[in-house]
Amino acid sequence: MEPQHARYPFFAAAREAVRESGVDLAALVADGDPAVDRGRERVERALTEGTVEADDDRGWDARDELLSYPIARILVSLLDSRAAVEKYAEAEAATAYRRFTEDVERDRDDGARRDPARVDRDALLREFDLNGAVRVEEPKPGQVEGTWLWLGVGAYLSYVDPDWGDDWRLVNRELVAGEVRTEREELYRLLREAVEDRVGDGLPFEGVGEELADELEAEISDLRDLLADRSVTADLDVVAPEHFPPCVAKLLGRAQAGDDLDPHERFSLLAFLAGLNLDAEEAVALSGLDPELVADRFAYLRDDSGAQYPPPSCRTLGEYGICENEHNHRSVAPHPLEYYSRSLGEADEVVDWRDRDESDAGGAAA
Ligand code: SF4
Repeated sequence: MEPQHARYPFFAAAREAVRESGVDLAALVADGDPAVDRGRERVERALTEGTVEADDDRGWDARDELLSYPIARILVSLLDSRAAVEKYAEAEAATAYRRFTEDVERDRDDGARRDPARVDRDALLREFDLNGAVRVEEPKPGQVEGTWLWLGVGAYLSYVDPDWGDDWRLVNRELVAGEVRTEREELYRLLREAVEDRVGDGLPFEGVGEELADELEAEISDLRDLLADRSVTADLDVVAPEHFPPCVAKLLGRAQAGDDLDPHERFSLLAFLAGLNLDAEEAVALSGLDPELVADRFAYLRDDSGAQYPPPSCRTLGEYGICENEHNHRSVAPHPLEYYSRSLGEADEVVDWRDRDESDAGGAAA
């Protein structure tokens, strides 16, 4: 294992080094190897801070760093959440981008003093099969060499994201003989995308053994909670009470039956309804709760800008005693809104409660 493998664990050579070492990842987990802690930290920081850099000075060695990568991939796979895969791949790419930009720029400035952990431009391009696709433009007088490059249009289009804006559109670019004129910093941006693609490729994978999943249960549970607490309020505007998660369905049924809900229960129900973009009047019509109370709570749940206070996660609902995680239900989705979103996604046809006839506009309790 070489120092560069630890710095770029998604490079083909690093993955090969892990394979050749014959390390048994399941044994590492069973033994509580430091690489497992570092792997958990990798995912945790990806979900919470958008980086996979180590946070503390425990002095992880190159082996811990390298092996933490496949461990992190196992953890992300066990989380089994599209949001987790995206956040993780973005964080690996953001960290790699910072590192390779520094390495390549340093190499340009002082190529003679190479550090074996760092990567140079040619090696980086080779890693993503781009070495034949990049040509350095002859510098004009007063220009620094390497400021402008010509990149094969196929390679360019493989990594440009349509969301990056008009500047990246081919119609706004110099395109000559199948090459696109590109600034050096733009090439770094494209390489960051290449890293993100590679890291996300194949995630989540199936086939993590049951024993390994059991050993990692505590890590997975903590990571699920983190993911849930940071999930953006889902962009859901369909109201279909029959797809509400059991916790909310129970609270709604009790509210509709005129039961007294305690403050936590009321808050949880109303935060969920507000999270579906119901307005206060609609929430009253659905729940049967007191209009003044609902208007008051909704004013609290949304600030003046319209930002929404996120509904509590499954963990918090567990702490309130509202959910007992029956049938290990939390493993399906760590947040009631995520559960709801999945349930809607699996339904054949959904009619919004607001568009139903009075006769079938019942509630989740039905
Ligand atoms: S696991 Fe979550 S979504 Fe399911 S009932 Fe419990 S709190 Fe609700």
